[in-house]
Amino acid sequence: MEMIRMKTPLVEMDGDEMTRILWKMIKEELLLPFIDLRTEYYDLGLENRDRTDDQVTVDAANAALKYGVAVKCATITPNAARMDEYHLKKMYRSPNGTIRAIMDGTVFRRPITVKGIEPNVRTWKKPITIARHAYGDVYKNVEMIIPGPGKAELVFTDEKGRETRQLIHEFQGPGVIQGMHNLDKSITSFAHSCFSYALDAKEDLWFASKDTISKQYDGRFKEIFQTVYKCEYRQKFEDAGISYFYTLIDDAVARIMKSQGGIIWACKNYDGDVMSDMLSSAFGSLAMMTSVLVNPDGKYEYEAAHGTVQRHYYKYLKGEETSTNPVATIFAWTGALRKRGQLDGIKELQDFADRLEKATLSTIESGKMTGDLVRITTLENPEKLNTEDFIKAIRATYESLA
Ligand code: NAP
Ligand code: MG
Repeated sequence: MEMIRMKTPLVEMDGDEMTRILWKMIKEELLLPFIDLRTEYYDLGLENRDRTDDQVTVDAANAALKYGVAVKCATITPNAARMDEYHLKKMYRSPNGTIRAIMDGTVFRRPITVKGIEPNVRTWKKPITIARHAYGDVYKNVEMIIPGPGKAELVFTDEKGRETRQLIHEFQGPGVIQGMHNLDKSITSFAHSCFSYALDAKEDLWFASKDTISKQYDGRFKEIFQTVYKCEYRQKFEDAGISYFYTLIDDAVARIMKSQGGIIWACKNYDGDVMSDMLSSAFGSLAMMTSVLVNPDGKYEYEAAHGTVQRHYYKYLKGEETSTNPVATIFAWTGALRKRGQLDGIKELQDFADRLEKATLSTIESGKMTGDLVRITTLENPEKLNTEDFIKAIRATYESLA
């Protein structure tokens, strides 16, 4: 069989623990035999981040901006325990946080649906994608404990020193206050990312906030989405036969439970944090959820939504058999390869991605799967495979399709 050629390299960001093991297996078994794989490799494993004072993460994010498409393995976000475990020089920031700060943009999380792994919500027939705004609000807040009686105010001082004040509350006793912000620029790029992702996916876009209560703050989000839609996307949406719909967040939650899916659901930062965990559990498993960061200039970074599966890694280190699910990591690769194929006009690469995804899903549908799926499948007599055998089974299915 002839190897598929690539033009532009993918930015490859390697990671930690069990997912680092999966990464290597996926490349060796499912990619390198078929593709003349071109990547620019960055080792984001914690040891190398420490060795480079985390410069490697910054370089990787800049490479993603340069080349346009990256694929990332799950990485450890250091905490106190990791400081000891890896003898780190300092407690580095989350690599995803660093990458997001450099690339900007919106995170889209999409469940991988397959026969035999049924969502808990009976009406959901198609995936529901969450688009989470990744800047500001409560994630960049300032907070204050109010010790006792007194007056709290919001004060804005403009460049000329003029002040605008608004009373928050006259405290009669102790309490708390909080200040949050967002930027028109960030909200606008969030809106653009959502509208263009919906066009790409040919799925309806919903956006929800609480503008009845937060008339100015959430109202600003609603207004910016409406303006961006009217000015740049209304015609394109009509041509593609899809729609844009704004509603209140509580109404969206009620509707989503009765919908058939096949929707992109744009959420403010906090709503997206909460709702994406709800959706991934309802769709079955964190190991069946992909994630892509889309920046306002159309640069992409693909990854699995789960972490480094530390518990399985320690078993693996002890030489015990593990049954870690590689599906989301495989789909991160296929997502990136398909996008690279589209950007470079290489049909073989796009077809490869389609076929490998199909092979992965068919393997599960044939009853072969990892332990996490065996626990929740509706298929009868599923066969639990270890990680390596499952990946080999996918390869066999792929070759039977080719
Ligand atoms: P995790 O790696 O997502 O794993 C949590 C549990 O979920 C696992 O113990 C396992 O359950 C199950 N699970 C997750 N992915 C699975 C898979 N592919 N196959 C089978 N089971 C899977 O979360 P964590 O243990 O909280 O975090 C571990 C490390 O990952 C942390 O250092 C954290 O900083 C990092 N993290 C990185 C990212 C990222 O890079 N995007 C995201 C989240 C967390 P059982 O043990 O019950 O089998
Ligand atoms: Mg969360």
